[in-house]
Amino acid sequence: MTLSIEQAMTHTMHTFDGVDLHALAAQLPTPFHAYSANAIRQRISAMQSAFHGLDHRICYAVKANSNVAILQLMANHGVGADIVSLGELHRSLAAGIPAEHIVFSGVGKTAEEIAAALAVGVWRFNVESLDELRLLQQVAQLHGVCARAAARINPDVDAGTHEKISTGKSENKFGVSIDEARRWFANAGKLSNVRLDGLHAHIGSQILSLEPFAEALRRVEAFRQELEADGHVITSVDIGGGLGVCYRQGHDHPVAAADYAALVREVFARFQGTLVLEPGRYLVAEAGVLLTRVIRVKPGVDRSFLVVDAAMNDLMRPSLYEAWHEIVPLHRDSREMTRYDVVGPVCETGDTFARDREMARCQAGDLLSIGGTGAYGASMASTYNSRPLAAEVLLDDGRYAVIRRRQTMAEMMAGEQLPKVWNEA
Ligand SMILES: *Cc1c(COP(=O)(O)O)cnc(C)c1O
Repeated sequence: MTLSIEQAMTHTMHTFDGVDLHALAAQLPTPFHAYSANAIRQRISAMQSAFHGLDHRICYAVKANSNVAILQLMANHGVGADIVSLGELHRSLAAGIPAEHIVFSGVGKTAEEIAAALAVGVWRFNVESLDELRLLQQVAQLHGVCARAAARINPDVDAGTHEKISTGKSENKFGVSIDEARRWFANAGKLSNVRLDGLHAHIGSQILSLEPFAEALRRVEAFRQELEADGHVITSVDIGGGLGVCYRQGHDHPVAAADYAALVREVFARFQGTLVLEPGRYLVAEAGVLLTRVIRVKPGVDRSFLVVDAAMNDLMRPSLYEAWHEIVPLHRDSREMTRYDVVGPVCETGDTFARDREMARCQAGDLLSIGGTGAYGASMASTYNSRPLAAEVLLDDGRYAVIRRRQTMAEMMAGEQLPKVWNEA
């Protein structure tokens, strides 16, 4: 049975991918992240069918949710990986994603990282600076291999998203201007061990309208045609990720995969090579919930605080981006509505999931589901305030599997030691 994403997401009705959340929370201590395998599969297939017939490869942005079980789900459906570190490379390979389906992005690649990625044979490097291009040439030459590379273009468009997740404006650290990339291609013949035959652009995240994509992609395609006219062979264009999702019903109106694909088909109608897609959030965000219990209700002078056992270390987005997440009390009885500031136990005012949020009255021990936490939730988690990393579970048609057990205190402290040996440097 395959559930539609709406069916999988009936957490307001206390089940998620067929699993009763109360029963689940009776077996596992809160807080924990739960992901619907069916919701993820549904997003993968929505994207695959939208791009059906087009020469393309989907490379999931691992940073969105890097649990090895989630990566394996991607691998099982032929989805590759977009990585930004050796840790993500390690996880992707461990999950069974073939190296030839992996693209390596990021402004800070070191010689060591480049060498390791070349050694396993990653598909291509999305190069973000001239210094990196030179380093790639050096390292590839040293290892006697040829690196495949794409120039990451900063198309200088405003993605209309939160400033902390905008990446395609000239003031952002990502990519290079078309003028600079033009010089790279003009000199590419001198690179004995780099085949510069791709373009890449990723303009930001949680983008909720087609216009910024259209503007950026048209600039990239115009540049590609110019390069082609100048005799350069471009075999792949990587259009990045950034498709937004619905965090707030009736407020966020995401672009449908089919509309996005229609735009891409139109813009790249004359392109013969492979289109690379790097969706992160789109594939996993709405497939996750963070389950938490109320520790206590604390009355304040002019508001009531709902203190829950999840905190900013489990889900950073509200603190970091002022992100809105749906918070649903999973009450089995009906209760009057009230307003709360929903906060975690961490010693930071920023440890706030919602302010003045209207919801059914709560009491200690009540179970709550925080929605839309499948992306940039667990992958951004920390042990701040010495809170062990929360467990993660995968739900699939009424069953569940623990895909990360909650960290023990010993695991949380692993690697720390008293200064028994003093060295000189
Ligand atoms: C973060 C990132 C993505 C994924 O972004 P989403 O908004 O999660 O789709 C894709 N490509 C690159 C280069 C990224 O840095």
